[in-house]
Amino acid sequence: MGRKKNKNIAKKRIKKLFEEAKEAALEDELKRSDRYVELARKIGMRHNVTLDSKYKRRVCRNCYSYLHPGKTCKIRIKEGSLITKCLKCGTINRFGYKD
Ligand SMILES: [Zn+2]
Repeated sequence: MGRKKNKNIAKKRIKKLFEEAKEAALEDELKRSDRYVELARKIGMRHNVTLDSKYKRRVCRNCYSYLHPGKTCKIRIKEGSLITKCLKCGTINRFGYKD
């Protein structure tokens, strides 16, 4: 029972952190964005919560940078997939478009 509650709290904190990361990116505080993402990932790991796909596509799978279109990544849509290119490490991240 307690574990489920903890998970919900963890999810809320992750949501908040991604909101903060977005705000920071909009202010060109990209290092802060990355830190928020790192915290969100740590919370997820600690509480065994997987990030929602809408958050996953905001994180580079290689360097875990926060991906903000036009600032830290480039986005393309190809054959039903969302393709982001991390501008920090150059990794191409591919996501299903409909999830
Ligand atoms: Zn990257």
